[in-house]
Amino acid sequence: MSKIDEKLQPVLDEVLRRNAGEAEFHQAVHEVLESLGRVVAKHPDYASDALIERICEPERQIIFRVPWVDDTGQVQINRGFRVQFNSALGPYKGGIRFHPSVNLGIVKFLGFEQIFKNALTGMPIGGGKGGSDFNPRGRSDGEIMRFCQAFMTELHRHLGEYTDVPAGDIGVGGREIGYMFGQYKRLNNRYEAGVLTGKGLAYGGSRARTEATGFGLVYFVQQMLGTKGTSLDGKRVVVSGSGNVAIYAIEKVRQFGGVVMACSDSNGYILDENGIDLDLLKEIKEVRRERLSEYVRIKKSGAHYIEDGSIWDVPCDIALPCATQNELTAKDAATLIKNGVMAVGEGANMPSTPEAVALFQNGGVMFAPGKAANAGGVATSALEMQQNASRDSWSFEQTEERLAQIMRNIHDNCAATAEEYSAPGNYVLGANIAGFVRVAEAMRALGVI
Ligand code: GLU
Repeated sequence: MSKIDEKLQPVLDEVLRRNAGEAEFHQAVHEVLESLGRVVAKHPDYASDALIERICEPERQIIFRVPWVDDTGQVQINRGFRVQFNSALGPYKGGIRFHPSVNLGIVKFLGFEQIFKNALTGMPIGGGKGGSDFNPRGRSDGEIMRFCQAFMTELHRHLGEYTDVPAGDIGVGGREIGYMFGQYKRLNNRYEAGVLTGKGLAYGGSRARTEATGFGLVYFVQQMLGTKGTSLDGKRVVVSGSGNVAIYAIEKVRQFGGVVMACSDSNGYILDENGIDLDLLKEIKEVRRERLSEYVRIKKSGAHYIEDGSIWDVPCDIALPCATQNELTAKDAATLIKNGVMAVGEGANMPSTPEAVALFQNGGVMFAPGKAANAGGVATSALEMQQNASRDSWSFEQTEERLAQIMRNIHDNCAATAEEYSAPGNYVLGANIAGFVRVAEAMRALGVI
């Protein structure tokens, strides 16, 4: 990773010392501090009152035991986390991830990113993140419900519509949010709709929330391509992942006239020369909850399944990493550049390694970082909170139009900030600085808290 400003080096040193071994958290902090050098050079007052040190230290970190009983009657133990990182702009807001890789460092990196992402949306939401090392794969519906109930039995005391509002992330979708909402309601004896987002439409959810992260990503990329006088129309696109973000990114790319050639899961990727069959993909992933290899078993012509290969070997004009952190390495970036990629938009959180980002930026590839490009999900969560607070429910069109407008604003704000700090076209710098400035202004106004 490249060097950071000498004024900020002690801040990073302290983060590394105090959070030993949390590699992803170090990476996320490093990237933001790298961008802030230009801010403290221009406005030294931002470096006063330990403001940046305070932003790097979570307001509160909760770790708890989650005991539950599986279908065979065995007691299982998982670890639950909620990192309430920053509430200067509003209640803590951010998803919950269920995946065996979850640990405190992962939750902290996600919570830290969330602060700036949420600030960029312009909505009144602070930053937080949670999760568990629970592995939902292969678990029955009853096991999922009992786990969600056990998780919420401990977490509920830390939540509230004015305190902390979780949502989904990897391994947590509409079904899990429903079970967690049910348990929260039972424990509190309150129908507090705004305490969770990503709820079902039957009980207080927002239209377009399911689609929002993927749709928002593609709106952002379309806007970014527009600055170079081009668009998604006729472009070959590769989307990694096949979860909620990937599925709705694929849908919106198609609406904008692009062709999505490939998508993946953690076992391999599918390549469909006719363009991914979205209805089949949704059936496999959302209804049957099966692996992607099923796709080629059902669709025999034109589709191939490549086990263990890297999806980034597939030549494309636009790459949308929508799977998980650090999935796109320097080697992958070099292959994409060699194959002529023109733009990369991150649908996942921090999917490109720092070395990959540097290669894209130095190679003249347009690069949209996750904290700006995937902010449509959390922005629509904030729209869900608005609807809950006013006991209202908006149409799909109205909600999607708000999302599209928010994504245009985020894009333009990042682009203008990059310009202001003499780095035109550098969306990483633009996103980090614009997000930071909004949080920093609020924190200064609130005093040393
Ligand atoms: N997990 C999503 C994210 O990474 C959504 C969070 C939310 O809606 O609160 O932004």
